[in-house]
Amino acid sequence: MRADGDAAFAGLSGRGARSSASASKALTDLPPVAVGALGGTIAMSAPRQGATGAVPSLDAEGLLDMVPRLRSVADFRVRNISATGSASLSFDDLLNALDFAKEQAESGVAGIVLAHGTDTLEESAYFLDLLWDRPEPIVFTGAMNTESSITQDGPQNIVDSVQTVLANSMRGMGVLVCLAGQVHLAHTVVKTNSTDLATFQSPDWGPVARIVEGNVHAAWRTAHRRMVLATPERPYKPYIPVVETGLGNEGRTLAALAGGDTTPDAIVLAASGAGQLSSSCADVAAGIVADGTPVVFATHTGSGSTFRRTYGYAGGEMDLIRKGLIPAGFLTARQSRILLGVLVANHADIAAVKRAFRHEGQW
Ligand code: ASP
Repeated sequence: MRADGDAAFAGLSGRGARSSASASKALTDLPPVAVGALGGTIAMSAPRQGATGAVPSLDAEGLLDMVPRLRSVADFRVRNISATGSASLSFDDLLNALDFAKEQAESGVAGIVLAHGTDTLEESAYFLDLLWDRPEPIVFTGAMNTESSITQDGPQNIVDSVQTVLANSMRGMGVLVCLAGQVHLAHTVVKTNSTDLATFQSPDWGPVARIVEGNVHAAWRTAHRRMVLATPERPYKPYIPVVETGLGNEGRTLAALAGGDTTPDAIVLAASGAGQLSSSCADVAAGIVADGTPVVFATHTGSGSTFRRTYGYAGGEMDLIRKGLIPAGFLTARQSRILLGVLVANHADIAAVKRAFRHEGQW
């Protein structure tokens, strides 16, 4: 366990810091940190709670203004990338965020904080993790409660995220997610609860660090070697449906998708257990694979890995693998969709897709 901190952070809490702004260091002494705003609840406020609902209202400077004393801790370079609910973000918005991160890293920032809606945050974080080849951390953060809420959590998350990018122990770990005093790898994190402040968890591996009293306590370094893929061309609009399977699923949705007007680039099945389908769904999937569309199966249980050598019955994972389907291992269905998109954009053939899933899914 290693504590990594800066005295400048001691007692710097999001909400408490609002009223006491003071610049204690000359700007030139401060480490440069980049902040990109992409909307989400962290940037939203509702003038009268419940009346018209929360909408995006803060840009990157506005996010920093929530914690004025932060400006005495780092020299901020900001960019407004988007101002929307995160389900409306496009992959191109994320590629713009990647451009911003690269340009800032090349100009010497310690790291990049990206403020983003929590709903799709894990997908965006994993997408950029597949494309980020630098040691500076990109730290995604957000908030579960709006700026106008009495239980606003955005300011603390911003403070913690800045602290994370400034911690030496967080360098070289790719893209991270920081909320509720925890830091997670993009590779392992999942939004696990629709309303809890500590919704972001890594169910299989736990957080990579915790932030306590202004210190980043790094718990471990991952043994997983990060895979970095070529950045897709814009406009980037992969068509990779995710189909959840379960009781009574005979593969009709799957067949309809494959026979539709637009052929999917690939398909992800969010399957039961450790990757099990009904025998008829497995047959439909096999036909799709035979026609040249990659089909990946992940577990929809919320954690854990797919199996490879346990069930041999029709629709069991051994049968699926024999039929040419690819197990996602520890990757979730959502992560599988993101990885497949980048692989297809990289013109990966089926053997390369399999290799990438074995590596990223750790099977
Ligand atoms: N609906 C919001 C969004 O994802 C939720 C959030 O930010 O927590 O943009």
